Amino acid sequence: MAWKTSAPHATNSVCPRCDAPVLIQRDGLPFVVTADTERLTPEQARKLTGPNRLAWCLRETKWSPARLLEVLAPFHNRECPWPHVVDHQCPEGTPAVKGALW
Ligand SMILES: [Zn+2]
Ligand SMILES: [Zn+2]
Repeated sequence: MAWKTSAPHATNSVCPRCDAPVLIQRDGLPFVVTADTERLTPEQARKLTGPNRLAWCLRETKWSPARLLEVLAPFHNRECPWPHVVDHQCPEGTPAVKGALW
């Protein structure tokens, strides 16, 4: 009998464009999120976020897979004890298409 892993969670992957390690979460959110794997403090995450870059509160324990929760940085608790990640952005100059399907 298949174990039903219905809880949304992020998986380790690599960016299809620049091959950087990323966290991808495909469910539990209105869209697919690709985030950097670097764990940041709320303060560091806040500095990196902008209109097109969201911060994510990363809920992960030894017993459950990592899960991204959207964070509106200015309103986020600066003392939040969880690690944080920000949307992945490819380095400048990365070709827009690499084996893309469209
Ligand atoms: Zn947080
Ligand atoms: Zn990339």
